[in-house]
Amino acid sequence: MIVAKFGGTSVADAAAISNVVDVIVGKQASGPVVVVSALGGATNVLLDLAHKAAGGELLAALQLVEQLRDRHLREVHALLAGTAEADELALEISTSFDELAHLAEAFRTLGYLTPRSLDTVAALGELLSSQIVAAAFRHRGYPAVWVDARDVMKTNDFFTRAEPDVEAIALASQEYLLPLLQQGKIPVMGGFVGSAPGRVTTTLGRGGSDYTASLIGAAIEATAIEIWTDVDGMLTADPRVIPGAQLIERISFDEAAELAAFGAKVLHPATIAPAVQRGIPVFVFNSRKPDGKGTMIAFDAPRLPVRAIAGKRSTTLVKLRSSRMLLAPGFLRRVFEVFETHRTSVDVVTTSEVSVSVTLDDATNLGAILQDLAAFGDVAVERRSGIVAIVGAGIADGSRAIADAFVALGPIPVYMASLSATGINFTLVIDDEQVVPAMQRLHAAFFEQAS
Ligand code: ADP
Ligand code: ASP
Ligand code: MG
Repeated sequence: MIVAKFGGTSVADAAAISNVVDVIVGKQASGPVVVVSALGGATNVLLDLAHKAAGGELLAALQLVEQLRDRHLREVHALLAGTAEADELALEISTSFDELAHLAEAFRTLGYLTPRSLDTVAALGELLSSQIVAAAFRHRGYPAVWVDARDVMKTNDFFTRAEPDVEAIALASQEYLLPLLQQGKIPVMGGFVGSAPGRVTTTLGRGGSDYTASLIGAAIEATAIEIWTDVDGMLTADPRVIPGAQLIERISFDEAAELAAFGAKVLHPATIAPAVQRGIPVFVFNSRKPDGKGTMIAFDAPRLPVRAIAGKRSTTLVKLRSSRMLLAPGFLRRVFEVFETHRTSVDVVTTSEVSVSVTLDDATNLGAILQDLAAFGDVAVERRSGIVAIVGAGIADGSRAIADAFVALGPIPVYMASLSATGINFTLVIDDEQVVPAMQRLHAAFFEQAS
């Protein structure tokens, strides 16, 4: 069994969806479970319209509802026109958008959104795209069955970034997926979407379809998890920033996880963990070039000082200075408890005798965090920070990589630097607007030098 996940651009329209069918039919013997994202860009539009409605722009919100309705119906027409299934699906889609319009009206009246209501809206993208993709398989004569992700992807109720209940997902996979696979059927489900107890709709957070794929892969003990996207695989940097970025044919789980955590959007940061636990290789392929080599992510990979570079913008740097501190036993624990209480994860940490500095990706709860930290000492915040990460299992193997990195950065000021004892990720905190130039300089130094 394998899990194959197709991202938004890979299911953006009827032609892309037909291509998904082509890719999967060649793998039918492997027993594929297909996981799909919303039609490219649909999640952004859904969230945008919810915010517009709650902000009093009902007309604009309703226009977006109609735009999305038209788009979904157009792709159904292009894929299935003239069949009974086309009409049934069109009715289902139209009813969903009628409900969405009513929700938008309700948001307008309320004037605010809750995380729970945002999840209800955002989930629609995957719930519909997966039904369209399942129908496209059947139309081409393949035995696909739509599986409602809410029956399988059991989560807690941390709306907008729900956490999976791994045991419940394993049980639900046995109930909903394995029987279909045993019958030679192709289960097709939406990524990103889950349900909390009471079957309340949740989502795993933006980009979460990759995570769905690896959770399902682990639950059914798949032999491979395939992430099909719009680039040739994992590259030495984001090709949108570094057009000359090169394909990485093989990379370790640890390196891939570091890259994902520090901005390589090609994988949701949580994707690797379930795969590692079961030792399942993860592949990244380009859905537009199904015969490409792609990237294999596994335990072993050739050990290099620098495998790739990642960068993350708009992070928040929090600096705590205290005279009564660091060596006091338990001090750091109490400081980090503040972040835990406010469910905020910390990316980069440095400490000195009198200070602790951390970066936060998600500053939603910053106000409350700062209030609690004030009890420990003076707190300063730098909201316009960025991070660059230089990742390689052999970065600390006596190579010159660290020195080369500083030389390459030249005049770019560095505010924090962190190298883990296991030496896999050298992270630098810099100004937000320096992230792109820093990535360009580092990529040039490590990957574009004539050797
Ligand atoms: P999908 O919709 O298929 O999930 P995403 O947009 O989430 O696709 O992720 C693919 C994008 O990730 C690529 O288009 C690329 O710009 C970006 N990306 C960032 N870092 C990397 C990297 N190191 N290698 C490949 N792609 C990367
Ligand atoms: N559609 C969701 C998003 O745009 C999940 C995903 O694509 O992985 O965030
Ligand atoms: Mg993605």
